[in-house]
Amino acid sequence: MAAREHPAPVKVADRPLTRDARLVLLGCGGYIGSHLLDTLLVDPSVRVDGWDPRPDKIRHWLDAPNFKLRRAMLNEPSGLDDLHECVEAADAVINLAAICNPAEYNTDPITVIRSNFLDSYKVVEICAEAGKWLIHFSTSEVYGRTLASYVSPGDYDCDAALYELDEDETPFLMGPLSSQRWTYACAKQLLERYIYAHHAQLGMPYTIVRPLNFFGPRMDFIPGQDGEGTPRVLACFMKALLHGEPMRLVDGGSARRTIVSIRDAIRAIVLMLEKPQSAANQAFNVGNRDNEVTMAELADLMRKIYARITGDDSFLKHPIESVSARDFYGPGYEDCDRRMPRLDKARDLLGWTPSVSLEETLLETMTYYHDHYAVSRRQAG
Ligand code: UDP
Repeated sequence: MAAREHPAPVKVADRPLTRDARLVLLGCGGYIGSHLLDTLLVDPSVRVDGWDPRPDKIRHWLDAPNFKLRRAMLNEPSGLDDLHECVEAADAVINLAAICNPAEYNTDPITVIRSNFLDSYKVVEICAEAGKWLIHFSTSEVYGRTLASYVSPGDYDCDAALYELDEDETPFLMGPLSSQRWTYACAKQLLERYIYAHHAQLGMPYTIVRPLNFFGPRMDFIPGQDGEGTPRVLACFMKALLHGEPMRLVDGGSARRTIVSIRDAIRAIVLMLEKPQSAANQAFNVGNRDNEVTMAELADLMRKIYARITGDDSFLKHPIESVSARDFYGPGYEDCDRRMPRLDKARDLLGWTPSVSLEETLLETMTYYHDHYAVSRRQAG
């Protein structure tokens, strides 16, 4: 069979797209999208066409003349009505639309796979057809578990190559079919491969962002106050502190995460938009190596910071209990053991290094939660 002809890659802009630019932002009403809008829309020369069915976190932008929101989902036929037209007119397309709550990966895997692959592959095709730069938010979960967790379980005093996550070298290691935790990671991985294929075969420019635990105001929800279900760890621990319930450590809390402030993370995305030539056709980890904690350490640190915020030392002894992953998430959950990102590429190509410490990140985030939820509870009561 004749080799498939590969067209020349489509070029991206050679000017910053943070001025006089038109952007499409899918999933603009979520936690990350809301912070991105806060940064981009202050410049009236930037125009954003946004898609999101839920405007709760971006109400303050709904009347802005440089922002137009379509309250639609990508899986509704009408949701795509003017997407083609907007993509044609855009300088870049940013896709943040996804279901990314670990509690749903094994409990509603069909919706998770549909949302993270089937609803998004169309966006890739539309961008490829229009020859537009797609900045896609993927996940650090595509790496799955570390090699170290198989080779030397629990011991990270080994070769760093066995646990560090390198964008271009690290293999993607996921558990067996019955461990449905990996539905999300797998759907995201397939989408990354679909994007890469559209670049390799059709020349579509892309950037893949792999976030590692962005923490900040507006993340998730507090069950029973503005949502139902199980949010991610920050909101679970905050709910426990706010409602006087024990903080629960899944399987003893030995899993490690590196936490990056949403402020640092948004700066990385803005740098990508400022330097399209450097950012295009790359995958980037966005995390903070200095902010690594076990979940047990995180719970303890959050107790201390909450005691500081409230001036109430009884929080220093707030109860913490252990719970099995099966009881907490149901069958089919399996954890990522550690996420230690290589960040050399973001530093070398974008000039980005994170600078906000874990304590500062938690203080800012927990102060927001306290003002937003503890105060509103008191008013409601
Ligand atoms: N976790 C926990 N207690 C909770 C919620 C989560 O110990 O109340 C753990 C979870 O098992 C995982 C880590 O915290 O090891 C981070 O979970 P999160 O839901 O924030 O998302 P992830 O980082 O896995 O995407």
